[in-house]
Amino acid sequence: MYIPYGKQSISEEDIQAVVDVLRSDYITTGPKVEEFEKKVADYVGAKYAVAIANGTAALHGACFAVGIKEGDEVITTPITFAASANCALYCGAKPVFADINPDTYNIDVCDLERKITDKTKAIVAVDYTGQPCELDEIRKVAEKYNLTVIEDGAHALGADYRGKKVGSISHMTTFSFHPVKHITTGEGGMITTDDESLYKRLLLFRSHGITRDNAMMTRNEGDWYYQQLALGYNYRITDIQCALGISQMNRLDAFIERRRKLVSRYNSAFKNVKGVKIPYMQEGCNSSWHLYVIQVEDRKDVFCKLRSAGIGVNVHYIPVYKHPYYEKNGYDKVVCTNAEEFYKHIISLPLYPDLTEEMQDYVIDKVIQFAGR
Ligand SMILES: *Cc1c(COP(=O)(O)O)cnc(C)c1O
Repeated sequence: MYIPYGKQSISEEDIQAVVDVLRSDYITTGPKVEEFEKKVADYVGAKYAVAIANGTAALHGACFAVGIKEGDEVITTPITFAASANCALYCGAKPVFADINPDTYNIDVCDLERKITDKTKAIVAVDYTGQPCELDEIRKVAEKYNLTVIEDGAHALGADYRGKKVGSISHMTTFSFHPVKHITTGEGGMITTDDESLYKRLLLFRSHGITRDNAMMTRNEGDWYYQQLALGYNYRITDIQCALGISQMNRLDAFIERRRKLVSRYNSAFKNVKGVKIPYMQEGCNSSWHLYVIQVEDRKDVFCKLRSAGIGVNVHYIPVYKHPYYEKNGYDKVVCTNAEEFYKHIISLPLYPDLTEEMQDYVIDKVIQFAGR
């Protein structure tokens, strides 16, 4: 038996939705793309949504929409997947790392403000594990310095922050539909926004910078005519994927409910165990629980023992600037003390809707056996 840390849940309806598209006229750039966009936009409470090839392309698109370019700086957290910082590099800009808050594990708003220079253009705020950042405070800082907030909500589809859903709060919010995330399209992503001009830039970005929108073109030579207005990419998503996404969206609330149930079982099992620190839960937020991250004293030892016991634990994340690509490109002297201390102790335990209570009890037993003091 091997229990992974995360895994998709695919139902017969999900499969049927994909099969139906395969039998239809459009397998890409068809009606399922807009239907999926509308479904996510309505769910999170945003005006616009753009479905895209993956969560990384969503972040790249958000930077493109802001107009991030060479010489600019983008501030993010080191405790994230590399894509949250790479998106700045794709645009020729420099990612700058602000330390995490040791309580919430999200970007520390004071350090964020300290890292702002006259080159800073945007903040990539990551809702780590599904717990929203201090979004109101971040927005206040952004307004003070005229910055755009790009929220990396890859972990946080369905999370609430002070009564609002993630995806309706920041200038733009990006999502990922990789199989370990809340819903999956195989590969896929989405950007939500309330800003029409950002929305139009995102549409250009997704499809070669090309438009057929009369209002955007400099002239119109006839019904065949279109114009390339910017250097975009082919980052489109297929109708096959979007049909799966629509079907998965119908199950999202049930997925999150199941994740919350499993988290409360973990929390009550570990709360009195010395040697196991359970995740912090911020007031006013309702995490959607992409990851369940505990802290232990001897991480390497506990990690190896859990892996040998058939439990696919993981570490989220190695501080981004510690990767050799970053080290050799000028980040070798960067130190974020809280992030580095946090990294030393973290382990992500299995958490996904189809994890059974029997499997979870096995994980709990082994964690207490290997990490308990
Ligand atoms: C998964 C993830 C991404 C990237 O999404 P992909 O769909 O895999 O490209 C970006 N940021 C974070 C925090 C993620 O967890």
